[in-house]
Amino acid sequence: MFSIDLSRHVVAITGGSSGIGLATARLFLQSGAAVAICARDPDRLNAAAQELREQFPVARLHAYCADVTDAQQVRDFAASTQEAFGGLDTLVNNAGQGRVSTFADTSDAAWREEFELKLFSLIHPTRAFMPMLERSQAPAIVCVGSLLALQPEPHMVATSTARAGAQSLMHSMAVEFAPKGIRVNAILIGLVESGQWRRRFAARDDKALSWEQWTQALAQRKGIRLGRLGRPEEAAQAILFLGTALSSYTTGAAIDVSGGLARHL
Ligand code: NDP
Repeated sequence: MFSIDLSRHVVAITGGSSGIGLATARLFLQSGAAVAICARDPDRLNAAAQELREQFPVARLHAYCADVTDAQQVRDFAASTQEAFGGLDTLVNNAGQGRVSTFADTSDAAWREEFELKLFSLIHPTRAFMPMLERSQAPAIVCVGSLLALQPEPHMVATSTARAGAQSLMHSMAVEFAPKGIRVNAILIGLVESGQWRRRFAARDDKALSWEQWTQALAQRKGIRLGRLGRPEEAAQAILFLGTALSSYTTGAAIDVSGGLARHL
């Protein structure tokens, strides 16, 4: 099994109570890092923290209830992380969810909500944790983005548009922060098994279909070359690479984690 010693490393992960964020917390804890996670729902957050503490009894874990669209809550998350661990090396901007809607059925309010979530989920944590990153010896920001940024889908028009903006923002931050030595990169997700897909599975038309049958048919319909959805752990591995010195000469880049869903060169 791959292993790396991150015992002097501190990581903050937004949206750490489920799916990709939770798998990322697990992978960093397994590597010895101190991990701070946030999410909105206190019950799910506490359940995730308890699960992680059971799996890693000596874990240095900090769980804090915060909505990334609320600047003050994010500042409080950063301050409490500073108090818990004394600094930060890696920020993982992961919190979010997709919106299924076409141009015809996306209201102005929905457009605004989507832009707010996709852009401020990067802006607020990056701003709040910046002083801590500036003091780190190996600072990095990893943004969990979507392949929709480069390959938009008409049935997710607002998410695709907002994701393209987030990708542009990631690149601008990489350029602006490079003189400070802060690297900024992204992973571009295709379809990864997680809370979002579990919720869509629960709302499926044909209730006779099992999770395996439903996801396999979905992968085939979407044209995913590897024939299956990704696992949260697979996204977490790419995040760990971009979030640590393993990728010390990489900034402003995006790693595709889509199983071959991308059609462009
Ligand atoms: P999950 O639904 O499993 O997890 C999302 C996490 O983010 C939860 O911890 C959730 O907790 C938290 N979250 C959502 N909104 C907020 C918010 N406003 N403030 C703080 N926390 C929030 O989803 P995934 O693991 O699949 O998604 C992770 C990221 O990957 C998201 O940004 C998603 O859009 C992106 N992505 C995922 C894809 C996939 O196929 N899975 C495809 C493309 C992109 P709570 O609700 O309690 O706040």
